[in-house]
Amino acid sequence: TVKTRFAPSPTGFLHVGGARTALYSWLYARNQGGDFVLRIEDTDLERSTQEAIDAILEGMNWLGLNWEEGPYFQTQRFDRYNQLIDQLLQEGKAYKCYCSKERVDALREQQMANGEKARYDGHCRDLGEAPEADAPFVVRFRNPVEGKVAWDDHVRGRIEIDNRELDDLIIRRTDGAPTYNFCVVIDDWDMGITQVVRGEDHINNTPRQINIYEALGAPVPEFAHVSMILGDDGAKLSKRHGAVSVMQYRDDGFLPQALLNYLVRLGWSHGDQEIFSMEEMIKLFSLKAINKSASAFNTDKLLWLNQHYMKSLPVEEVAEHLAWHFADQKIDTANGPALTDLIPVMAERCQTLKELAQSSRYYYEEFTEFDAAAAKKHLRPVAQAPLERIAEKLSALSEWSAEAIHQSIKDTAEELELGMGKVGMPLRVAVTGAGQSPSLDLTLLLIGQTRSVERINKAVE
Ligand code: GLU
Repeated sequence: TVKTRFAPSPTGFLHVGGARTALYSWLYARNQGGDFVLRIEDTDLERSTQEAIDAILEGMNWLGLNWEEGPYFQTQRFDRYNQLIDQLLQEGKAYKCYCSKERVDALREQQMANGEKARYDGHCRDLGEAPEADAPFVVRFRNPVEGKVAWDDHVRGRIEIDNRELDDLIIRRTDGAPTYNFCVVIDDWDMGITQVVRGEDHINNTPRQINIYEALGAPVPEFAHVSMILGDDGAKLSKRHGAVSVMQYRDDGFLPQALLNYLVRLGWSHGDQEIFSMEEMIKLFSLKAINKSASAFNTDKLLWLNQHYMKSLPVEEVAEHLAWHFADQKIDTANGPALTDLIPVMAERCQTLKELAQSSRYYYEEFTEFDAAAAKKHLRPVAQAPLERIAEKLSALSEWSAEAIHQSIKDTAEELELGMGKVGMPLRVAVTGAGQSPSLDLTLLLIGQTRSVERINKAVE
């Protein structure tokens, strides 16, 4: 059965590139009815932090990318790696290399100066015994010198590398720590991973890893190397281009569904369909339909998708995410309209949940000042007569409905022989403090009868 994994190194937050790789891997497992594994690749003790581990888990949870197994940690598996390194040593498939760092560095410099690719020259490959007792050593994998390594990449097609191009990889450092390229192979083997989906920056590791699988007699998984994400200027996406951390997108007011839909389309397609429910993504996803070329991040499209989901997801679901933003903006929503009533009115006008929360403050809190320009235009000098008249009518309403509110505004305008705007705009500024809001009937409906009338009276004082 299919088993895929996401294997981040915990050296920073979960960024959108990693999230997309995780999503593709997760979708493939779901599509195939298989399992998904989360593995934390923390072999680099100096660069790995608990904070980064927490941030990755938080990002995965927020996106809803759940896993059947894990999180596994490489640092808890060192005994297993070392046992297999010892086995390879015994079988002669790996060897101890006593070359000093100085020798290896000098070799590399010389090769580079000659315009050659830097590679270990195999000096210790057939050494037999230690130059002196207790000499420090690394363990190198004895890479085949002849033939080719090849695999059919799900994204990039057939890839072939001459073994002559590869040197003998260090699999255990002088301090006894197994190295990354070795651990990955053992993990994917032990965990039964059938398809490795990862970034194309790992493509050069793959032939080396395949040789290790073969030396161990382990089945070689399939591979899919996913292209990079670029910024709008064609350079690799980085902080310079704006938000790159998944949690930053939460903070900026995006729904996980929107980000997932955006990321699935960024490098994968199904005809020209843009909107995919989670069920559709799972049903339609295939590794073969991942694009080979790099994709450029387009924030406008993400904003468009976000608004689409704000308007179309079940309102209770949007409300859960929106509540976070009200709390973040320190707006207490206990006293005011239910979020589920607010969302249908405001989502039309906002592209993010953050914007929605920020521009809904007046539903929940009294404002102390009017927007200066709006007040100057519509309220000062005070539109005394229309406001007093509408306040009377509104307070007399026995049923607080959009229709009744609308009728009151209309009646007031007719009685005073004014255009609707001459009543409506002062009213809008009086109840919202600003010159812009959704339609007045809905705005007042949400603000409520008592509060609306109080605000009008306060404005004419
Ligand atoms: N830990 C690697 C990374 O974060 C991923 C390796 C892999 O997927 O094989 O880049």
